[in-house]
Amino acid sequence: MKTENLVKEIKTYLPFAVPETDQASAVELVEKYGKDEIVLCLLRDYYTALPDAFEEAVTRVSELSFKQDVHFLVLTTTGHSWLYAVTVDSVALIGEYGVEVPGEVPPEVMYFLGWSTLKEFHENCPSVEKLKEYPWEGMPLTHCPVCGVPVGEEHLLGCVVEVCPWCKGQLKSCNCRFEKLDVEEIETAEQVATFADLLAEKGRIPFLPEQAPAYPGTSRGLDEGDKKA
Ligand SMILES: [Zn+2]
Ligand SMILES: [Zn+2]
Repeated sequence: MKTENLVKEIKTYLPFAVPETDQASAVELVEKYGKDEIVLCLLRDYYTALPDAFEEAVTRVSELSFKQDVHFLVLTTTGHSWLYAVTVDSVALIGEYGVEVPGEVPPEVMYFLGWSTLKEFHENCPSVEKLKEYPWEGMPLTHCPVCGVPVGEEHLLGCVVEVCPWCKGQLKSCNCRFEKLDVEEIETAEQVATFADLLAEKGRIPFLPEQAPAYPGTSRGLDEGDKKA
């Protein structure tokens, strides 16, 4: 219900915020994220505040980082990109993304993101084109949502999405690794390596979007000390 109201509210600002020629695409983006409260709050903030008074439509929402409930999102408009810190109840504009202006990024933000200097921050921030688009409902998957490999490539070993080539179950939790190694427990790195070889020999099943479950977002590695289920 809250998201519906946000969508309505944002749409009332759009005629005043962006040129007529960009209205349709601006509306389209708002509707694309119509069920995402985080992005809608961000869009509402953007269209009411319009940083530096540029009247530009938002064309893309990308994610730089997500840490301790804070989404670091980049809003790309027809002419600029803006870095924001967004939580469920606050939206803060950090500054123009990718533009090296000394002092632009508050030290506490850099520290929070894990960089100690502004130089490091700019060197480590990928260009907007390289940032992952912030997902919307129904977005076609281009990468494994857990280990991040592109469609058609092998998962990182231990990824919970990987399908077992022997039993077609979930490789992370089926018993094939114990059976193939003929052991009750996997305790050493050598065992993990041997299993990886067996797996390569059999032929691993690459990532396809339809394999992705509604996953709980964890990616524990194929650990030593794994016990037979
Ligand atoms: Zn994966
Ligand atoms: Zn299996």
